[in-house]
Amino acid sequence: MKKVLVTGGGGFLGSHLCQRLINDGHTVFCLDNFITGSEANIEHLADDGRFHLLKQDVIDKIYMEVDEIYNLACPASPPHYQADPVRTIKTSFLGALNMLELAKQVKGKIFHASTSEVYGDPDVHPQPESYWGHVNPIGIRACYDEGKRGAETLCFDFHRQYGVKIKVGRIFNTYGPNMDPHDGRVVSNFIVQALSGQALTVYGNGGQTRSFCYCDDLIEAFVRMMNSPDDITGPFNLGNPEEFTILELAERIRGILGSNCSIVFKPLPQDDPRQRRPDISLASEHLGWRPQVRLEEGLKMTIEYFDRLLSKQGGNI
Ligand code: UDP
Repeated sequence: MKKVLVTGGGGFLGSHLCQRLINDGHTVFCLDNFITGSEANIEHLADDGRFHLLKQDVIDKIYMEVDEIYNLACPASPPHYQADPVRTIKTSFLGALNMLELAKQVKGKIFHASTSEVYGDPDVHPQPESYWGHVNPIGIRACYDEGKRGAETLCFDFHRQYGVKIKVGRIFNTYGPNMDPHDGRVVSNFIVQALSGQALTVYGNGGQTRSFCYCDDLIEAFVRMMNSPDDITGPFNLGNPEEFTILELAERIRGILGSNCSIVFKPLPQDDPRQRRPDISLASEHLGWRPQVRLEEGLKMTIEYFDRLLSKQGGNI
């Protein structure tokens, strides 16, 4: 059994990962500053003797004896990461630097959560890992995109220069329970809007595409990647290759809920990628991994989560 540090462990994906690692019998150190993460996501783990919470910022240096590090700490939804862009790029770059230095010191392995945003608004579709991307370096998404690109550079330089064992996963749009209802993501926005009888806010004409992966599928990929042989560094695309337009997503959610709530069209945010779908051949070949949960099924589980949250909070999210 291993000692594992999860940065961003109070966030949407971090909390699922902590749960999975505890279930697998590991000792988990969950580091989070709770700026976008939530203590509610992990409070049920607090009584487990193998779960340790560190309320700390990943930007601050830390030393601890661990075998493995999953570096997930960074605000990831556009409204959140654009709220304090300087902090976002620092979190991404300095957080990765601190965690790579820790991995080097303890001779541990590090999984770094990168993102499909490294491809920017892609002009190659679907996106393979060999594509270098199309990112506006001075746009409003750059604090995240370039922060994550710089963090990938650091990972590979620590690997080449110091032999640090790295695993870089590029995460595509993911959804599921524990998403923050206020983080502005399309899946959570549409579900919360539909459940509370509001109009669904489609940005632009809704023809832009995304590919949505259910959280459990993604966590399985993280763990498989961490457990893969040392020569497997990635980067690997991790996501569901089924692609939908944003309007199709709105229709799916209305269909599942049997809701006839209206759709309002709002301006498309600046630099919003027009299309996104991962080519997951590398992850499939090297990790034997493919997402198992279809959109319909995943959306139902996510709707149940938000429905419970809404009832708990007396109809207000
Ligand atoms: N979007 C939308 N309505 C919303 C929130 C998002 O139409 O209420 C669109 C957004 O413009 C983008 C897509 O949905 O084209 C996915 O947005 P999200 O913020 O979930 O993630 P992104 O992939 O842009 O990081």
